[in-house]
Amino acid sequence: MSRPIQAHIDPSALEHNLQMVRRVTAARVMAVIKANGYGHGLLRVAEALSAAEGFALLDIQDALRLREAGYRQTILLLEGVFDADDMVLAAQHDLTCVLHSAWQIELLDACPRALDVWLKINTGMNRLGFAPQQVAQVMERLRRHRAVRDITLMTHFANADEARGVADPLALFNAVAAPYRLPRSLGNSAALLRYSQTHGDWVRPGIMLYGASPFADTSAKQLGLRPAMTLSSRIIATQQLRAGDEVGYGALFRAGHDMRIGIVACGYADGYPRHAPNGTPVSVDGQSTSTLGRVSMDMLYVDLTAIPDADVGSKVVLWGEGLPIEQVANAAGTISYELMCALTARVPVRY
Ligand SMILES: *Cc1c(COP(=O)(O)O)cnc(C)c1O
Repeated sequence: MSRPIQAHIDPSALEHNLQMVRRVTAARVMAVIKANGYGHGLLRVAEALSAAEGFALLDIQDALRLREAGYRQTILLLEGVFDADDMVLAAQHDLTCVLHSAWQIELLDACPRALDVWLKINTGMNRLGFAPQQVAQVMERLRRHRAVRDITLMTHFANADEARGVADPLALFNAVAAPYRLPRSLGNSAALLRYSQTHGDWVRPGIMLYGASPFADTSAKQLGLRPAMTLSSRIIATQQLRAGDEVGYGALFRAGHDMRIGIVACGYADGYPRHAPNGTPVSVDGQSTSTLGRVSMDMLYVDLTAIPDADVGSKVVLWGEGLPIEQVANAAGTISYELMCALTARVPVRY
């Protein structure tokens, strides 16, 4: 038998979450499947979300894999291409390129045929995109360019999941886009759930498709989302501690009383966060308990004091079914996105 850790992916949860997107918007859905489908597996995610009108990702090789697998919908390269060779490939395979900087527009000259582009406008996040005052000039250039077919205007919000919201960048985007009768795309999961005025022609959900909430104050369950990934393993050893005994590297935990602990086959080399402190939630045989001690490369510790029936072989859920990933992320000082993406290649994925 192999090491008992596994990530279980439920495709029906992905389908359900896509339906939840449909329920809030009539816009076309650009399913964001970057970072190996947020760690869920590129091709399996694409299969479960094949009803989406488009797929968005970063790596052109992944985009070509989708084309090879037969997907005919829009495939958007979220950072565009990085050199002329890839611009040629993009055109040949009818990929849609984000254009976020002047140097990418130069690459269009290499195109053997025209392609669709999404012009990215920086409305205040100051990551990618042209400044609002550059847009008129860039638009003029794109409209005359023989390699440019359809243009969609896009932006990305920095605070859609925060109290600040989207009012200022939305107003700026609308003002910049007003002179053009072009399709628009603005919202990630947070914006599409909270601000229907951002829906435009294409929404770009990522995290909600995987069944996690983009908001700190609202759970996935409250949003009607179902988690698609469950990371589970088993207890492979137990230890009986006396008051004063210490646990693990750096003796990060010291028992205040006699207690029983379990050793779980899951560590940071599997993608579990090493910085998860004592008290991070975990579920053993369906009962809530918490981690203790420092997470090591291949193992971590859980408190079994209140679960006397748990023993070697007991099932441990690190996140997913019965234990929302956001709770684990909160305890570890990170977000669900990072946990999902951090799952490493050695963890077997089952569907
Ligand atoms: C990742 C990403 C999204 C999806 O964001 P979620 O918060 O996961 O919904 C949308 N748009 C862009 C440009 C992105 O990079």
